[in-house]
Amino acid sequence: MTTKTTQMLPEDLLKAYFGYESFRPQQKEIIETILQGNDSLVLMPTGGGKSICYQIPALMLSGITLVVSPLISLMKDQVDSLTANGVEAAFLNSSLDYEEESEIIRRCTEGKIKLLYLAPERLISSFDFLSTNLNISLIAIDEAHCISGWGHDFRPEYTQLKILKEKKPEIPVVALTATADKVTRKDILSQLSIPNATVFIASFDRPNLSLEVRTNWKEKMKLNAILELIRSRPSDSGIIYCLSRKTTEEVSAFLNTQGVNSRFYHAGMPSQERAKVQEEFMNDTTTVIAATVAFGMGIDKSNIRWIVHYNIPKNIEGYYQEIGRAGRDGLDSDTYLYFNLQDLQTLIRFATESGLPDLNLEKLKRMQQFAEADVCRRKMLLNYFGENTASNCGNCDVCKNPPKHFDGTVLIQKALSALIRLNESVGSSMLIDVLRGSHKQEIIEKEYHLIKTFGIGSDISVSDWKQYLMQMLNIGVLEMAYDEDFSLKVTGLGKEVLYGQRKMDMVLPKVFESAKSPQSVSEAAKPKPVTLEERLFDNLRIIRRKLAQAQNVPPYIVFSDVTLKALATSMPVTEDELLEISGISHNKKGLYGEVILAEICRFIHENQIIRQPSSFSPPKTPKTSGSLKRMDTFEVTLDLLRKGYKTAEISAERAISQKTILTHILFWYEKGEWNETEEFISPENIVLVAKAIEAVGDASRLKPIFEYLNEKIDYDTIRWGIAIWQKTNNLSSL
Ligand code: ADP
Ligand code: ZN
Repeated sequence: MTTKTTQMLPEDLLKAYFGYESFRPQQKEIIETILQGNDSLVLMPTGGGKSICYQIPALMLSGITLVVSPLISLMKDQVDSLTANGVEAAFLNSSLDYEEESEIIRRCTEGKIKLLYLAPERLISSFDFLSTNLNISLIAIDEAHCISGWGHDFRPEYTQLKILKEKKPEIPVVALTATADKVTRKDILSQLSIPNATVFIASFDRPNLSLEVRTNWKEKMKLNAILELIRSRPSDSGIIYCLSRKTTEEVSAFLNTQGVNSRFYHAGMPSQERAKVQEEFMNDTTTVIAATVAFGMGIDKSNIRWIVHYNIPKNIEGYYQEIGRAGRDGLDSDTYLYFNLQDLQTLIRFATESGLPDLNLEKLKRMQQFAEADVCRRKMLLNYFGENTASNCGNCDVCKNPPKHFDGTVLIQKALSALIRLNESVGSSMLIDVLRGSHKQEIIEKEYHLIKTFGIGSDISVSDWKQYLMQMLNIGVLEMAYDEDFSLKVTGLGKEVLYGQRKMDMVLPKVFESAKSPQSVSEAAKPKPVTLEERLFDNLRIIRRKLAQAQNVPPYIVFSDVTLKALATSMPVTEDELLEISGISHNKKGLYGEVILAEICRFIHENQIIRQPSSFSPPKTPKTSGSLKRMDTFEVTLDLLRKGYKTAEISAERAISQKTILTHILFWYEKGEWNETEEFISPENIVLVAKAIEAVGDASRLKPIFEYLNEKIDYDTIRWGIAIWQKTNNLSSL
């Protein structure tokens, strides 16, 4: 059975240990399900907040929580960020030497660690030892889709996790993933032997990511646009995903010649070098990486502000996962997908030659449909993942710049009649050359310049023709013979249009304002006006980097961009105000509060800023606060307790509900800072609650105890009873 060690509620822990005000949708329900001892499967997009779902239960349960994670870098990141928040966490993996490892195991057996991260193979090989020597409360399996051969990250080690339930069916398991498709989901449940798990599917929408598809841009234009993007936001981090290793090197080289500090990353590099590039990116030393999709899973950085797909990805799953790396902190971030026919042809070839040609071609087709669609892109994406939404998103290129339709019959007739005169034996670039009346050598040699329709479409640019041909393929008047060197063929429908039996609508090609010429690049390079908030944000960012370097963790572990932004906007000057900022936990306040407050005060003074008092809730600090050093809200309660105040008096004095004050007092009781309980529970009731716990056999839920006691003892008193019982009893005996 599951036992809890704290009487703090999940919300209180969220605030105290993570600095957040409220749960996101589903988090609370997931936590409750876990605390009830049930198995669960959590599907949530990247950045959705999966970790909290098992970290809060881990804090509440009496034993240790084991977390299975596939990558060393992910483990380290999670442990660093938990540690920064004052949660006891550690990992076991090959990066540790024997002594470090024994030390961690010792701390685990002494019950000093709440969360232990390990790789699946490690968990399997040590499971007998761990389950006999530790009180395991929960097993969390992160990136659970790795168990499925259907997924894109199959890891054979994961399949052995079956034995967990075989050996210890009573330990609840929570599997978490950002991959939502049905096959993978079923596979996870059956392979982990958790058929009755409660399945939680959060919305996969990521409204903070803008979506834009750019069709048929030439290399030079793409590069200029990327350069412009980087120059307009030089401190932001971003990734450029490329199809080939060679392209990553070329793109990075181009950017470096333009004075951008960028690096490339692909699987063909020595692993040491790869690790170095990744680390520099994590530490904000390098902000731009041109990479293949090999740059991925370990990237937990929360403040990636943009993603460019230099080439179209193989499938929508991959695309969604890659753009999903941006904006994990919830702040606005931008994504751009470049799409052209040549890339598509390359991918068709790859798919055809792959082990699963049908599946891969089908997936590629869906990707292509997405890129070519003229309906809200987010709607399409969410539909793909089985989520139906009625409204348009307003944050994609289609919504912002809706397509303009016209009667395309004549245009189609021009293209198709030229194609028929070319015996349907050419590909798209030759067809365009003929339509535009080019005098290339090959055209003259083959005497294409003599056909009747030569030059019939010379008024339309090459890139517009490309877009039109793509539309013609889409609406089905043309098709591409993949097995005949991608030559174009007129379909039955095409013939109907050609012979005037049918009219067809087309969409005008998109006009992109930006990045048309190098001139616009220098325009964008002009420094933009900087507000006070932006300046403070920059100052704080520098401080964050120093703090991070001193502790040898990535900057986003010290504070997320969201927190930094909130600090710059609200400019808190006391520790209490600081604690109101989202992401400032009790522990982080202690670690970094002083430096941050000093900078904000200095900044306010230097700029003679007059703060609006209304930016914070009414002062809650008691009159006594003048004589006190800065304290946070928990400490103020303790201070008043020590001065002899009763709960109701503290509540009145501080204008905080009695329930919250009670939580503060329980917090200090569990920490051993406050030991008097007479005010809260009588000796008789301590005995009654203890008996009830033993009779019910569960100290984790209040309701059964309440009912066992014939509803005569109120919930707050029961919370105290349990806290006292837990302090005086050997927890592992249950
Ligand atoms: P995932 O594992 O699903 O990709 P994380 O667990 O890393 O996502 O969470 C993404 C970000 O959101 C983190 O910075 C995390 O601290 C933050 N977060 C999670 N839950 C909340 C919440 N309830 N309120 C505010 N921020 C949250
Ligand atoms: Zn949209």
